[in-house]
Amino acid sequence: MTTFILHSPRVVFGGGSLAHLEREIELLGAKRALVLSTPQRRSADDVAARLGGRCAGIFDRAAMHVPIETARAARDEARRLGADCAVAVGGGSTIGLAKAIALESALPVLAIPTTYSGSEMTPIYGLTEAGLKRTGRDARVLPRTVIYDPALTTSLSPKLAATSGMNAIADAAEGLYAQDAGPIHALLAEEGIGALAAGLPHVFEAPLDLEARSRCLYGAWLCGTVLGAVAMGLHHKLCHTLGGTFNLPHAETHTAVLPHALAYNRHAAPEAMRRIAAALGAAEAPAGVYDLANRLGASMALRDLGMPGNGLDRAAELATTQAYPNPRPLERAAIRQLLQDAWEGRRPS
Ligand code: NAD
Repeated sequence: MTTFILHSPRVVFGGGSLAHLEREIELLGAKRALVLSTPQRRSADDVAARLGGRCAGIFDRAAMHVPIETARAARDEARRLGADCAVAVGGGSTIGLAKAIALESALPVLAIPTTYSGSEMTPIYGLTEAGLKRTGRDARVLPRTVIYDPALTTSLSPKLAATSGMNAIADAAEGLYAQDAGPIHALLAEEGIGALAAGLPHVFEAPLDLEARSRCLYGAWLCGTVLGAVAMGLHHKLCHTLGGTFNLPHAETHTAVLPHALAYNRHAAPEAMRRIAAALGAAEAPAGVYDLANRLGASMALRDLGMPGNGLDRAAELATTQAYPNPRPLERAAIRQLLQDAWEGRRPS
């Protein structure tokens, strides 16, 4: 039996789609938008200028993993300015901040993604308090509208594009063996992986190629949809642990761990592996994702991302103390070996 439900934002996709921002804000019925960004303010000033009188202000303090203090400051600013919507221009960190505002205020969010994180398509939020990151799902945080304009991603360096794209592929890959996934999710996942696997090498060679950027952003849209719709497994648990407890960078960690998480699950999820490999155009899923990331110049070893070798035991312990869905049962010794392989950056055979 299959049950299927998909909650999706309204999506405006394509080159030049940012020109429709004003119309989209009007459709939300909003008159005072608070624009959110990281301190680099990439594209935020442009978005604010396009909003003209409908821009209440810019809050440019978005940071990785949404520190609770930043979320509180942004909520206060939204209240002070009488904002009636949040416009997030940026990657997962900026969109995460908009979600933190929406969680308490129910302010509608319009997201303008500039990375491939896929957060704009999910009802998942994260908040970090006293060094602990907690995540949850809440329908209120799902953006109401998403504007995907590939022109905004040309400034994403090939290095950032590579890890961000591998992060998206990881979401779709785990979606393919998720317990609660149905045939439509599998179609989205396979198409999403294929689009990124085709687009990323072109982005690497020609960062300003809008067609390749468009392909990658399309892939990110699909992979993010899968992430938002089904339950993730071991790979996401490991990355969450490594990011939360060892402060490793998000997309880079996904990139280094994915080949080994897939190798761990390969015999327990043969159909998913076949579909991942087909989408990559590779003989095998684990080595296929490794080769793609490696070709894009990504760091493949956790030790190069700041993971201390003496933390691997603790990481294995943290990833196996609580039960969660995964095709292969959680085996402590095998997971410790998986982490060792990822730490050394070995190519899975
Ligand atoms: P990010 O948003 O932290 O951005 C990384 C860096 O890239 C920042 O310095 C940012 O200013 C810069 N940047 C963004 N777009 C750029 C562009 N077009 N050109 C140049 N620089 C640009 O990174 P991310 O990987 O997008 O997001 C990571 C965060 O998102 C993590 O905290 C993760 O937990 C969260 N996330 C959440 C979900 C979800 O569904 N809730 C999904 C994926 C990621």
